[in-house]
Amino acid sequence: MRTQPREVRCTACNILLAKVEENGLVIQRGELQATIHGEFHAALVCYRPRCRKLNVLRLSTVTKLAVATA
Ligand SMILES: [Zn+2]
Repeated sequence: MRTQPREVRCTACNILLAKVEENGLVIQRGELQATIHGEFHAALVCYRPRCRKLNVLRLSTVTKLAVATA
C-alpha cells in the first residue's frame, strides 16, 4: 500500500517546509532538492523572512515512516 506524502509545515506560520514521502524527508526549494532517509533529528528554520521560526523534526524512515514536530 502506498503511503500518502505528508506535509511538514511551520508551526508558527503554517508555510510548507518539507514533505515526508516513502523514501524519506523531501525538501525542495528552488533548484535545491534534498531527500533524507534514516533516523534523525532535523532543525528547519522557516524561510519566511518575518517568521524564521525553528521547527524541530524527529523522523524515522527505518522501521516505519513516522514524523513528529516539537
Ligand atoms: Zn514560519
